[in-house]
Amino acid sequence: MTHATTAELVAWDRQYVWHPFTQMQDWLAETPLVIERGEGNYLIDTDGRRYFDGVSSLWCNVHGHRKAELDAALRAQCDAIAHTTMLGLANVPATTLARRLIEIAPAPLRRVFYSDAGATAVEIALKLALQYCQLRGETRRTRFVALAEGYHGDTLGAVGVGYSETFHRFFRPVVTPALQIQPPHVFRWQRGETPERALQLALADAERVFAAHGDEVAALIVEPLMQGAAGMWAQPLGYLPALAALARRYGALLICDEVATGFGRTGRMFAVEHEGVAPDLLCLGKGITGGYLPLAATLASEAIFDAFLAPYEKFAAFFHGHTYTGNPLACAVALANLDVFTTENVVRRTGERACALAGLLTDLARHRHVGDVRQWGLMVGVELVEDAASRSPFDPVRRIGQLVVQAARRRGVILRPLGNVMILMPPLSVTGLELKLLVEVLHESIQEVTS
Ligand code: PMP
Repeated sequence: MTHATTAELVAWDRQYVWHPFTQMQDWLAETPLVIERGEGNYLIDTDGRRYFDGVSSLWCNVHGHRKAELDAALRAQCDAIAHTTMLGLANVPATTLARRLIEIAPAPLRRVFYSDAGATAVEIALKLALQYCQLRGETRRTRFVALAEGYHGDTLGAVGVGYSETFHRFFRPVVTPALQIQPPHVFRWQRGETPERALQLALADAERVFAAHGDEVAALIVEPLMQGAAGMWAQPLGYLPALAALARRYGALLICDEVATGFGRTGRMFAVEHEGVAPDLLCLGKGITGGYLPLAATLASEAIFDAFLAPYEKFAAFFHGHTYTGNPLACAVALANLDVFTTENVVRRTGERACALAGLLTDLARHRHVGDVRQWGLMVGVELVEDAASRSPFDPVRRIGQLVVQAARRRGVILRPLGNVMILMPPLSVTGLELKLLVEVLHESIQEVTS
């Protein structure tokens, strides 16, 4: 391959590429940063400049870039086979990984259904839940309950359970929005409630929806502990187990979407472990391969699996699959990823780093334009407001979040905001010194933009 110059790449990007979640008019007015290499927790551009990866390459990198063990596993699998189908065949890494995932997953989960993105893991969970209810003769159960501003991916089914008017109004005629319940964050933040009162109100809202529609609900879907894309809306302890009990009481399944929170991010392997909650279906993605390759998995309980067993001619099988389902390269890297979790005690180390980060954030939380700091493990949202006391938001026209990101980039840190919420999501391999740098750069950047 001949190497293009930075100028050529920039020109080609502007001419040929359509970037995700991007207003291309803005993109075309700026000069894109072109990443060429990675090294540990840093990204390196085509001109050799280094940037700290403050959002783990969209929340998926775990052990840093060019992790020797993961690189080696990928190369070794290349020497065996890159891809073979799971429709009609098994393969070595996918089978081995399924066993490993079930060993570490919460107890009732017994089966692994692979796919290749967080959104597909969610589609599969939703379809499994619907078909499960139908197979059991509970034909009225055709709806989902989801949290307002929940995010579960961009395919149409996932959009239904993560419906947001701003993003999805163009698809409204073809999606079925779920029954929405208000998360505790909304009650606290928008209505100035104490955390305890917000929890009570949120549970009362969930109770109200289930009381009205309980017998129509196939499943409740939730991002446990932290609603990531909403802007890091943290849930207080107690919310998840109460929701789980409510769903159970009304005969609905519980789907936990741990695409963002899974694989150590919150200081436990899976966020549900903080609360001892056992979902019927668990969606995994992002960090499953350490952030290397597109792989996702939907884990199901044996009860769900069993409901699909029937003579062939009943056509009760789960008719769903993707070309790259259970891709051997991705599964081999995922196995190496789990090995590193063990050898480096990653979950425990993450808990320690999260404590250090909480300490570093106390100063920032007092900034006059910081309205709220929300954290679970190494997953943080810093909400910027015009005025911290009244929580009045910045006018979106000012695009404060974007400006802070640009200021941080000039200081060698890559961030990506959610509106005016600054997201800190470093790789779990972040060092104490790098955490300090990250928070300092954010603080300086907020100061520069708001002063
Ligand atoms: N669920 C959650 C909780 C997520 O945060 C995301 C992505 N940020 C998704 C699903 C969708 O994952 P993907 O982008 O891999 O489709």
